[in-house]
Amino acid sequence: MESIGQLARTQGSALTRRPSDERLSGAEFAKLATLTEQMAAAYPHQELGESLEVLLRGYELLALEFGTLAVRDALERALTHQKFFPHPSEIREAIEMAAKQAREQQAAADPWVPCGSCMDSWRPVNADGTPWDGHGPHRMQRCSCFTSWQRRRKGSSLPVDHKRKAAGE
Ligand SMILES: [Zn+2]
Repeated sequence: MESIGQLARTQGSALTRRPSDERLSGAEFAKLATLTEQMAAAYPHQELGESLEVLLRGYELLALEFGTLAVRDALERALTHQKFFPHPSEIREAIEMAAKQAREQQAAADPWVPCGSCMDSWRPVNADGTPWDGHGPHRMQRCSCFTSWQRRRKGSSLPVDHKRKAAGE
């Protein structure tokens, strides 16, 4: 079997014909290709052959979406958790699971602590946003004890790339 590293360097490869915004940088891709190759060697009973290039392309797309580090971590976890060479969809599941666990751990380590002067994170304010004087019309607004906690949580979720951030996650 042709080495996947060689494959990636082959000018005629489908992988090298992609537009640059759909591809990792050369160095990042080389690292991913090397890891994929090493992984394939760890699953010697599974004949991957030509499909290895397609799997690598799948990992590359995931790396563009979640970052190379997240893909690398998920691939390494697969070594101890999966009997079969991980399909990109399984790597996606592993990355999403890791992100969920990280969020839960963070929520446990940094729970919302009510400031004591709001009502379950809400406080009444006048129309102009100043604290309600107790007379006349008012609306409810999230208390800063809650919004600052929310901001902390968002800021420390797993590394995600600009595409997901742009999607409002
Ligand atoms: Zn509060």
